[in-house]
Amino acid sequence: MTAASSPGEAARSAVAEAARRRTFAVISHPDAGKSTLTEALALHARVIGQAGAVHGKAGRRGTVSDWMDMERDRGISITSAALQFGYRDAVINLLDTPGHADFSEDTYRVLTAVDAAVMLVDAAKGLEAQTMKLFAVCKHRGIPIVTVINKWDRPGKDALELMDEITERTGLTPTPLTWPVGIAGDFRGVLDRRSGDFRRFTRTAGGATIAPEELLSAEEATAREGDVWLQAQEEAELLTETGADHDQESFLGGVSTPVLFASAVSNFGVGALLDTLVDLAPAPAGRPDAEGAVRGLAAPFSAFVFKVQSGMDAAHRDRLAYIRICSGVFERGMVVTHGRTRRPFATKYAQQVFGRDREVVDLAYPGDVVGLVNANALGVGDSLYSEKPVTYPPVTTFAPEHFAVVRSKDTAKHKQFRKGIEQLDSEGVVQVLRSDRRGDGSPVLAVVGPMQFEVATHRMEHEFNAAVHLDRLPYSLAMRTDAESVPLVSASGGTEVVQRSNGELLALFTDKWALRMLQQRHSTITLEPLVAAQL
Ligand code: GDP
Repeated sequence: MTAASSPGEAARSAVAEAARRRTFAVISHPDAGKSTLTEALALHARVIGQAGAVHGKAGRRGTVSDWMDMERDRGISITSAALQFGYRDAVINLLDTPGHADFSEDTYRVLTAVDAAVMLVDAAKGLEAQTMKLFAVCKHRGIPIVTVINKWDRPGKDALELMDEITERTGLTPTPLTWPVGIAGDFRGVLDRRSGDFRRFTRTAGGATIAPEELLSAEEATAREGDVWLQAQEEAELLTETGADHDQESFLGGVSTPVLFASAVSNFGVGALLDTLVDLAPAPAGRPDAEGAVRGLAAPFSAFVFKVQSGMDAAHRDRLAYIRICSGVFERGMVVTHGRTRRPFATKYAQQVFGRDREVVDLAYPGDVVGLVNANALGVGDSLYSEKPVTYPPVTTFAPEHFAVVRSKDTAKHKQFRKGIEQLDSEGVVQVLRSDRRGDGSPVLAVVGPMQFEVATHRMEHEFNAAVHLDRLPYSLAMRTDAESVPLVSASGGTEVVQRSNGELLALFTDKWALRMLQQRHSTITLEPLVAAQL
């Protein structure tokens, strides 16, 4: 590929390349098989030679997406980046989402950068807590969802029951594209509901190669599988009668969800998922700015930062800003404008990052994710553009549920302390709140999950050379308030008013009863739930 030579050509290639792109993330509960599926998808697209090389959990080969000691020890994935690969004529961008429950805030930010999500469900466990939480974020953002029922090779729930569970818990109408032949644990393959054919499941040892799927006609399937096939056919007919057929408009509108049955560990159903993404998932479209005006794909380059990360590599203390391209063509080396500061930003060091693997990116298009190195001025939610200015909506954060006062262990390290806290705030590792309550001006750290505190403590000590100690505060609930309400909130017991770095005032409560009591006593007081708390 060569750089576009004229603005007209750049606009045309931005539109054409965007049409080929599918940018998505997998939402699931830990252990549902997200890492296994990621490996299988990459394998299927033949990015890597053998399954096992993408994700490095404890005891497994490869450490591509694990970077911090802590992360390695725990076998969880804290970082987020994107894996790009070609499939058919399409370019797939799979954005990595942190799996641990405490990192849902990070995951939320990743979900601002995708056009679709794959909801991965363990056949035995059904819809689990974190899946539901992430589903709520997708629903709120109107992201279309493809559902994959995984681990069908193991005993699990009944397929029709799982469909009922999806309807009841998510409100989405499941429209299975494939239907399992054989109950969970007796996986013979799937019935392709559109063609009526049988995709026979063939096991491979350890799932190390692409599972050969044998395609058989309905007659052949009847001869081979007998009653098991006939039952699948019967159930598939029942689905048709109840209107559970795929409808593109209702899928894109977040009303229905296509469903596939899979065994990620054996690579079965993975090709069908890729085909579904290419055939049905939406390509990047023009993105609305903060005022709601859509900037078309053909407009000059624009992007927003959805994640900032530093300390990825002990040898290179760099700070990476991940941007999602929204319009135009990105050419490495171009100088763009950083919207918040109006200052130029040179993109000399642009990379594609997946875990430790980095590749230089020369050209990128709407839907793509690029990691910008040495991006010290860039913060989460910032917009970048060339020529025509644009401000994309701010990236909202989850309502924090845990709070702690942070102090430097060594007062002589005040400078390092301040720098570190500022950095963690701008990366969104923790939210840093200002409070007048403590005379020494110590900030309050707020997080969704307590593990974010551990990451902050670890990084303050090892990266910023400013060891800290945290004093946990008894609050569990934050509500948005305003200046007029502050005296009433502050006068009430068990509460505290703090300020976010964007100036927003938050009232902290020990629990919902403390909140209710205050609301009952003063009906005019302003107390609004934060975005994620409404979900
Ligand atoms: P994650 O936490 O969602 O990333 O889950 P992993 O991909 O690490 O998978 C959790 C466990 O489930 C691992 O032991 C996998 O080998 C296993 N697993 C994943 N997919 C399947 C599957 O389709 N069938 C079976 N039997 N096990 C699976």
